[in-house]
Amino acid sequence: MKSSRTIEKGKVSRREFLASSTALSTVGVLSAAAAAQQGQESGRAVSDRSKSDPGPTNKALDAQNPSSVVPPDTDAGSVPAFKYSFSFAHKRLYEGGWSREVTVRELPVSKSIAAVDMRLTAGGIRELHWHAAAEWAIMLYGSARITCIDADGRSFVADVKEGDLWFFPTGIPHSIQGLGPDGAEFLLVFDDGNFSEYATVLLSDWLVHTPREVLAKNFSDGSQAWEKIPRDGLFIFQSEVPPPLAADQHSAAGNLGSSTVDFAFRRTQQPVTKRTSGGEVRIVDSSLFKVSTTIAAAIVTVHPGGMRELHWHPNADEWQYYISGNGRMTVFATGGRARTADFEAGDVGYVQQTLPHYIENTGDTDLRFLEMFKSSFYQDLSLSEWLSHTPPELVMAHLNIDKATLDALPKEKLVIVPR
Ligand code: MN
Ligand code: MN
Repeated sequence: MKSSRTIEKGKVSRREFLASSTALSTVGVLSAAAAAQQGQESGRAVSDRSKSDPGPTNKALDAQNPSSVVPPDTDAGSVPAFKYSFSFAHKRLYEGGWSREVTVRELPVSKSIAAVDMRLTAGGIRELHWHAAAEWAIMLYGSARITCIDADGRSFVADVKEGDLWFFPTGIPHSIQGLGPDGAEFLLVFDDGNFSEYATVLLSDWLVHTPREVLAKNFSDGSQAWEKIPRDGLFIFQSEVPPPLAADQHSAAGNLGSSTVDFAFRRTQQPVTKRTSGGEVRIVDSSLFKVSTTIAAAIVTVHPGGMRELHWHPNADEWQYYISGNGRMTVFATGGRARTADFEAGDVGYVQQTLPHYIENTGDTDLRFLEMFKSSFYQDLSLSEWLSHTPPELVMAHLNIDKATLDALPKEKLVIVPR
């Protein structure tokens, strides 16, 4: 007993010695400042005793964030937080529905995109309004009627259901109303991280702050008809479920006729761009959804055991919304820094332009999420396609791998690694 324990102890010591040697040699190629910032943490073996957390902690949040409680030993250094949950966001509750937003104020890294999660009851109305940012949306539950007018004043009225998208350009006035039987919940994505639902032009808010005699003159109506405008802005309010779609389309079209622009993009118009045994991706940008000129989307499903491959985006930051399942993402942030975070339904993730990342399904159900970009087009580069289209000797000299390993790499972008 005594001797075997001694041998075991000796093995551990040697392993620890090798691990710390590796850490030291890694640190050797970093600047002194970078090494100090990292605390030489990367690649070092740490015992369970050292990982223990006997003091106060939020056990429910810890259970949802295993990659923060015990990060992979490849994580290192200070990477700005790139996760926020809609569960933390303030909810504006109204008769007729609610909304909550995640913007650059909640998640400072998310400079290019902000989003709103909104619920409308059957008949509940998001007030007629517009804003300086463009609005891309996906229906998450139920159905709604959307209305707008195009830049020529022609009307657009359509019903959207789960999986359908819409897009309202900057300054285009619009509304959303929940339909039966149980209204809708949807995600609104704006091409400006600084956007706020508190800063939109609301029809009632505008008119209540316009002198009554100006309204009467503007509408050539000298009556007292404009005295009852709600004083506080409606934002969301309860009303009746609207009449059949054709009736609304006909009455809104008037003399001008309906708009020739399609501001909606149905689920059935979203072909699978790439499918492997590990999952599938549908890329929807302005090449398919013509009106969506400032926001591009990838709608991703990763099956259990599958992974969105190591890749990066040359053209834009990536804003993510997790719809279902469980996943983890590591963002490599240059200078020896990397951070891993866990995601589930209702979480927002963010990757700054060009930074490498992957998203792995860590659960036993499909992982579904959105990749959103402030861009007219979708673009990514994969690690596999890069390495397989670079002279082999050059790659081998970098990574200390043999030709057989290099030859086995996928020769093209997989998007989702097969299982
Ligand atoms: Mn809007
Ligand atoms: Mn990506």
